Amino acid sequence: MEVELMAITPQAEEVIEKACRTCYLSFNRFDPPESTRELIRKVISKGHHSVLEHASATFRVKGGSRVFTHELVRHRFVSPSQESQRYVCYADKPGRHKTKDYNCIIPDSIDGVSLKMNGSCFSGREAFIKAQEQCYRLYEQLLAAGVPPEDARYILPGGTESEIVITANFRELRHLITLRCNPRAHWEIRRICLKILDIMKKEAPIVFSDFVIDAQGESAQLAPEEELG
Ligand SMILES: Cc1cc2nc3c(=O)[nH]c(=O)nc-3n(C[C@H](O)[C@H](O)[C@H](O)COP(=O)(O)OP(=O)(O)OC[C@H]3O[C@@H](n4cnc5c(N)ncnc54)[C@H](O)[C@@H]3O)c2cc1C
Repeated sequence: MEVELMAITPQAEEVIEKACRTCYLSFNRFDPPESTRELIRKVISKGHHSVLEHASATFRVKGGSRVFTHELVRHRFVSPSQESQRYVCYADKPGRHKTKDYNCIIPDSIDGVSLKMNGSCFSGREAFIKAQEQCYRLYEQLLAAGVPPEDARYILPGGTESEIVITANFRELRHLITLRCNPRAHWEIRRICLKILDIMKKEAPIVFSDFVIDAQGESAQLAPEEELG
């Protein structure tokens, strides 16, 4: 999985502070970084999160599955542009070469199991790869026979890799990270949102300072307010 920051509001935290100070016309108190930290932490703790909407970031995520992107696009203030399975072909079709190689994400949890298929015993991973390869072979044959990619794709599994670009303002990014970096969230979206959090902690350290990443780096949660400086 790869998360690339494509764009971010320049001087994002100062933009947020200046927007916020418009409410009180208190520009005389604009004295970054101290004033920025103080004001942003105050508005976040009081729940006045609309000021965080003045800054946004755009990310390209590669190597995630359609399972992950389906979960991601449920967030209504995350604007997505995703690889189309109508226009992108994973195999040659009459008159056109494939757009990209096919890849399927395999969850680690299947490694611990063994399964019987057609009387033989396979590891979970072997069985998964066999079944996924069968699906892909049928997709390939359907395309070669003239079935459009938008219909042939019905046979592809949820693990099919899919590229996506998302844009979200900082308020929505905080919401996304709160829900999806939580230990209860699904591992794939959790890992990707942790990468987003890691980037945001560097790019906007004040806005994202209250997210605490666990010692193993596998989840993050909001710190209780009394623990914040
Ligand atoms: C651990 C986990 C398990 C999940 N399991 C399932 C599942 O089994 N089935 C399933 O269908 N979904 C599931 N979801 C998805 C979940 O139900 C939400 O659709 C998704 O998390 C988006 O959350 P949201 O609506 O808060 O956020 P967003 O869509 O990002 O919206 C942000 C916030 O804006 C406000 N908002 C947005 N739209 C409206 C609106 N129309 N009216 C009023 N306020 C609005 C709300 O305050 C909302 O929290 C799961 C999510 C998580 C994190």
